[in-house]
Amino acid sequence: MRALRTTRESSSDDDEHDPEGPTLSSEWSRIRGLMLAAEVRRDEADAALERLAEGRYGTCLSCGRPIAAGRLEARPTAALCVDCAA
Ligand SMILES: [Zn+2]
Repeated sequence: MRALRTTRESSSDDDEHDPEGPTLSSEWSRIRGLMLAAEVRRDEADAALERLAEGRYGTCLSCGRPIAAGRLEARPTAALCVDCAA
């Protein structure tokens, strides 16, 4: 994003009319989306580690029942059981 920001700030080209490849704006949107998704995953991992440290890992935050091992295996950061997540 830093490199793209530098390019956008220093570019006087009208890239919106470049028929080759994505525009700087669309590339910015794509990278920003990836960054936001990564931040969500990071926050979920941090929360899961916090529950682990507190001895609450694997317990549904909504109903208090255990989260199935298969669900935790597939999604280690799951905070809700399948029923509550649905
Ligand atoms: Zn639940």
